[in-house]
Amino acid sequence: MSPVISSSALNAEITVAKFGGTSVADFVAMSRSAKIVINNPTTKLVLISACSGVTNILVELANGVADAEHRHTLITRLRAIHQSVLADLQQPEMIADQIDALLDQVSELAVKAAEHKSAELTDQLVANGELLSTYLFTQIMNELGADAVRYDIREVMRTDSRFGKASPEPEMIRQLTEEKLLPLLQTQIVVSQGFIGSDEQGRTTTLGRGGSDYSAALMAEAVDAGTLEIWTDVPGMYTTDPRIAPKATPIKEISFSEASEMANFGAKILHPSTLIPAVRRQIPVFVGSSRAPEQGGTWIRKSVTEAPLFRALALRSNQTLITLTSLNMFHAYGFLAEVFRILAEHKVSVDLISTSEVSVSLTMDQTDTGGGAPTLPPGAHAALSELCRVEIEQDLCLISLIGNRMSQTAGSVSTVFDTLDEYKLRMICYGASPHNLCFLVKTEHAMPIAQNLHRKIFE
Ligand code: ADP
Ligand code: ASP
Ligand code: MG
Repeated sequence: MSPVISSSALNAEITVAKFGGTSVADFVAMSRSAKIVINNPTTKLVLISACSGVTNILVELANGVADAEHRHTLITRLRAIHQSVLADLQQPEMIADQIDALLDQVSELAVKAAEHKSAELTDQLVANGELLSTYLFTQIMNELGADAVRYDIREVMRTDSRFGKASPEPEMIRQLTEEKLLPLLQTQIVVSQGFIGSDEQGRTTTLGRGGSDYSAALMAEAVDAGTLEIWTDVPGMYTTDPRIAPKATPIKEISFSEASEMANFGAKILHPSTLIPAVRRQIPVFVGSSRAPEQGGTWIRKSVTEAPLFRALALRSNQTLITLTSLNMFHAYGFLAEVFRILAEHKVSVDLISTSEVSVSLTMDQTDTGGGAPTLPPGAHAALSELCRVEIEQDLCLISLIGNRMSQTAGSVSTVFDTLDEYKLRMICYGASPHNLCFLVKTEHAMPIAQNLHRKIFE
């Protein structure tokens, strides 16, 4: 699909705001987030995630829970999360039946998944998290005096049919939005679901775990929003995940390129694809904490005043490394072409590559809704084995340093590798992007390495 290139200007009067799971975790969090929306009169479209923890439970059910008692326990937990918000509403009766109906549907689908799981069924089941939370959030908005309406994003969020990691179709999304959603935005605040979409046949799809950020960016693009706000549980993007290094510091302003690298290389604060639509339409993105909006946050824009050599450190877990070795590769042509033909045929998406005379190493990443460490499909494994020796390693983490002019700056590498003397590195990628230097390490070494590097470079 070719990118959407619209000639119309951005509309400063429209802000799209996205609230993640912790920002809609319970009644208190939802009320806080609703007030952020109400306090900014330009916020016309709000996309929210499922309540915190709900998607994890739904994924577990979708993976097939055969034990009826355990299934019941999980569904009871889901009911409790949503009932506790209902209990604090002034008029729970406005939405109680709809919540009950969705939870009943989850129970039925969970039985089906226990009998036979599938990617399509997983998406159908997992989508209920966002379908539920949007009922509650809209009601809270209305009880706070706003004129809000719940909208089913599947009306406009058109994707292909790759269940679990569907690709959005921006031109269709724009067209459907203009037809069906823009008229509503003129008069009301629209509350809708992140993460979910639907294919041409109307079947429910999802954009992969953490996909609500991406949904919000796609919708910001479709309505030509002047600003996209991502509200989460930290006041902006930090030099690294504060859970890795408590002394990480917030970044006030960062370029699209650097922030995209951070998202792609594991900074969970943004789904990897979030900035693609924002970059296409040059929409400034704000990242802040719904718990403490007064603390400000990070602005992500096309150009920024500072471009430091090292901006941030990111860590991506669950990496699978495939090493293909063959003496036929030596001075031959066509070998790599054949490898990539096989990988493409089996829809294996390759992430990083490093080659030597007789071998090629590549990593696969996993961002599907189903979760787990990625594996090589059996068909691809068999075809590659006919061509060369295939070795697979798991239990690996990718550590990335994100910054500017890294490949052109003398000494940038030694600063990094001096810290790593005592550790074995499985693969290094450097030079392809001026914004990134990354290497694979054993999972057990990832935290100490990341913490050491952060201390040396950023603290
Ligand atoms: P949400 O549910 O709002 O989408 P996520 O849990 O997906 O929130 O993302 C927010 C989390 O991202 C933070 O709590 C933090 O632990 C993590 N994170 C990872 N990298 C960074 C970073 N560089 N800066 C800030 N937070 C980060
Ligand atoms: N609820 C989905 C998830 O937990 C999507 C999101 O929160 O962005 O992955
Ligand atoms: Mg997220």
